[in-house]
Amino acid sequence: MTGPAAVSTLRGALERYEAVIGIEIHCQLRTASKMFCGCSTDIDGARPNSHCCPVCLGLPGVLPTINKRAVEYVIATGFAIEATVAHTTRWDRKNYFYPDLPKGYQISQYQLPLAANGKLTFDTSAGPFTVRINRAHLEEDTGRLIHAELDGRRVSLARRSLIDFNRCGIPLMEIVTEPDIRTAEQARRYAEELRLLMQTIGVSNAEMENGQMRVEANVSIRPIGREAFGTRVEVKNMNSMKAVERAINFEIERQAVAIDSGETITMETRGWDEPSQSTYHMRPKEEENDYRYFPEPDLPPLITSPEWLAEIKARQPELPAALRTRYQDEFGLSGYDAAVLVNDSAARTLFEHTLAAGTGASAKLVANWVTGEYMRLAKGESGAAGQVDPAELAVLVKLVADGVISGTNAKEVMAEHFASGAKVVAIVEARGFRQISDAGALDTAIESVLAANPTAVADYRAGKGAAVGFLVGQVMKATRGQANAVMVQTALRQRLDNAE
Ligand code: ADP
Ligand code: ZN
Ligand code: MG
Repeated sequence: MTGPAAVSTLRGALERYEAVIGIEIHCQLRTASKMFCGCSTDIDGARPNSHCCPVCLGLPGVLPTINKRAVEYVIATGFAIEATVAHTTRWDRKNYFYPDLPKGYQISQYQLPLAANGKLTFDTSAGPFTVRINRAHLEEDTGRLIHAELDGRRVSLARRSLIDFNRCGIPLMEIVTEPDIRTAEQARRYAEELRLLMQTIGVSNAEMENGQMRVEANVSIRPIGREAFGTRVEVKNMNSMKAVERAINFEIERQAVAIDSGETITMETRGWDEPSQSTYHMRPKEEENDYRYFPEPDLPPLITSPEWLAEIKARQPELPAALRTRYQDEFGLSGYDAAVLVNDSAARTLFEHTLAAGTGASAKLVANWVTGEYMRLAKGESGAAGQVDPAELAVLVKLVADGVISGTNAKEVMAEHFASGAKVVAIVEARGFRQISDAGALDTAIESVLAANPTAVADYRAGKGAAVGFLVGQVMKATRGQANAVMVQTALRQRLDNAE
């Protein structure tokens, strides 16, 4: 359901029920090789089954070795979410049968995750919100099933499933929250902030569209005022942040309607179907003991020495939350502007590089240009695709601040630079945007406008202050828009008030 009817059903549901939501996120870690073997993780566009070896294919008689970088990435994430990082961690086998899992088990971490008891705070439309994070652990990805139609081939079955094991064994980090989330918006914002955090510390590209970040939402509802949680349903296959929010709202509404009509909710895994904007039943939910977890006999426990942990911590860059605060304290930016800059990595880079270009353009003005004109252009609202060179933006902001070009003309310069890449100064000269700020040249123009408009001058002296606006307009016209409007206004008033 979409449209007004859907909104009112959701609103109706939220009047009587409260949602309880926990999020599980799987992220592909940015390592060069796989989790337990030397195979390359560079599998984008690669021929199926070209990045595999006996270890990641689960052939007998081979042993896994741990990818140190992957462990470091989870530890770094643990520090970034203020979690307790384990001094000793262990590997466990999670057993299940599925064709995309050649070993018949996934090496994961069950009882001793690398990081536990963290938290993440982020902004929502209702103010800041904190979610407790239960754990962050390391595991390995599975292969990929391709349900292909082989029509036209000499095969007896028209439909077949193919398997590509290239993704098998790519390091995955799983991050699980406590069931602290209460709205779909909080869930989306949590996932967005976590994505930004992982990109900032460089552990994952975390691009949802490419499956590098997979968000699963556990959703239950309970009558408002009741403490006990309801039965949860797990929703997966959301391929964008917007889809996360929509899928959760759909699920809240679906469960409310079901409960109202006397049905009971059962533990199940549901999938989000983008075209119909609804969830559908995929399979009943596995119980924990179905996985027959036991310690991985082929890998020893892993000891994380204090020196190693300190080394990883020392490499941690400035995190988004700290950066937002610093932008406000150091540059006097508003909380809103600081968030816009920090949440968009292209905007943040442009802002910092523009300041670094050293023309002396003020940070606050640069921030205005980046969050305003640049973001508008980058969203494609002008219809053009392009870029802004930070050194050129630095020049532009300075030209406006010094009154050399007007703000309105500067926007045109920016749009042209964005689309064509031409130098700011070249555009200003070619379009004749340089303002006349030379007092002598302005005086001449003002003189002739005053002489040509005696009525307006008389009106002003008779007390009609608005006549100044008309006269400024005349000077601008006479100079073909190139006069510095602020200077014209000041000079005009001076002349009219003093010379009787
Ligand atoms: P599984 O792998 O079986 O889904 P996890 O413990 O990894 O189990 O994840 C469970 C997720 O569901 C956690 O994020 C947890 O906070 C959340 N959760 C647990 N109980 C509920 C509930 N009643 N309603 C909503 N979410 C819940
Ligand atoms: Zn391999
Ligand atoms: Mg789950």
